[in-house]
Amino acid sequence: MDTLFTNVMVFDGTGTERFPGQVLVRGDRIAAVAPVGATVEATGARIVDGGGATLMPGMVEAHAHLTWPSSVERVINTMKLPPEEHMLVTAQNARITLDHGFTSAYSAGALGERFEVALRDMIDRGFLPGPRLRASAMEKGAEGVMGVPEGHDPTHDRSIDGLRSYVFAMKALGCDTIKFLLSSDEGFAPGGSQVLMYSEEEAQAIGRAAEEAGIWLACHAQASEAVKRAVRAGFRAIYHCTYADEEALDMMEAVKDRIFMAPAAGLLYARCFEAQEFGIGPAEAERMGARSGLELMQQVVPEMRRRGIRVLPGGDYGFPYNPVGRNARDLQLFVELFGFTPRQALAAATSQGGELMDLPVGTVREGCFADLLLVEGDPTVDVTLLQDPANLLAIMQGGRFHRAPALATV
Ligand SMILES: [Zn+2]
Repeated sequence: MDTLFTNVMVFDGTGTERFPGQVLVRGDRIAAVAPVGATVEATGARIVDGGGATLMPGMVEAHAHLTWPSSVERVINTMKLPPEEHMLVTAQNARITLDHGFTSAYSAGALGERFEVALRDMIDRGFLPGPRLRASAMEKGAEGVMGVPEGHDPTHDRSIDGLRSYVFAMKALGCDTIKFLLSSDEGFAPGGSQVLMYSEEEAQAIGRAAEEAGIWLACHAQASEAVKRAVRAGFRAIYHCTYADEEALDMMEAVKDRIFMAPAAGLLYARCFEAQEFGIGPAEAERMGARSGLELMQQVVPEMRRRGIRVLPGGDYGFPYNPVGRNARDLQLFVELFGFTPRQALAAATSQGGELMDLPVGTVREGCFADLLLVEGDPTVDVTLLQDPANLLAIMQGGRFHRAPALATV
């Protein structure tokens, strides 16, 4: 059935101001975006009177870990579950992510090689609720290096031929992206962020293979040299970049049209201020580098934004103290810590997220997928509204309501 949203303030995702309008959805696409008063041919459409609420694109989680178990619905104190439970928890997390306004998710690594491929296909075919998913293979790291944590696979063949065949094998499995830990992390072991896990030669081999296979590359890159290595090897999603120096920033800026960054500040923020009851007090947060990491991000991220590098919200939700479902909190951190205006943070989470997904999503524009949120209030003034699901009056994905508005009339 077609749907006509009337009496709504449209935030189209580009970052411009809201405007009063009406939006027609036909099939799975947006068929028309019209100002108030214009005639829209919508015979037979279900009319949704938004009552002045904001109609905006569904959000994109730019650094998703749907296989990380903990969510706002349940705490799970391990990353390693039996595969059957793990797959089901992952599907549950996909539904929770959608419940909280994220209609798309770009994976930053899974805890099983085919979990996300299987999940993506179930979601795409309409059998399970969840965000449109760019599915990742298991996150890869180096064996024995600075406490690489449980769940990251350190066992793969790291010869050049082995790396190449791994990349081709993940393409054959149906993965959209592969994630490598190009550096370790302070959270894994003190000093870890400066430890490189793949040599220049290995990164180059991975990059060439991925280009030949037609698969995207994502990486965890803390050390400045890891960021540079990722840029040189053609990685598309370069995450964290906490220690990026001037040269690394210059290199990223030079390829800003093909790369994306998501700092995943939520995890560090949680460790600093919200994880006391999970055994992470101020001293532990200090030891894990959360406080210094957050301070560095507050320098690096605004500088990236100034240079036009796309920095997107989301990331590393799935811990007991940073659970799946809280992802929209990142928009608040972008505003409060990184100096984004609310509209800039929203554009990063929507239209720029659509560029990351490489799908016609994230914009309220004719021809795009009808992935839409009807939001009580004005998130272009206060992005924290998006953290309360009660404010999400309707969630539409591909023209179908995941959450139908109470105020719908036929
Ligand atoms: Zn991550």
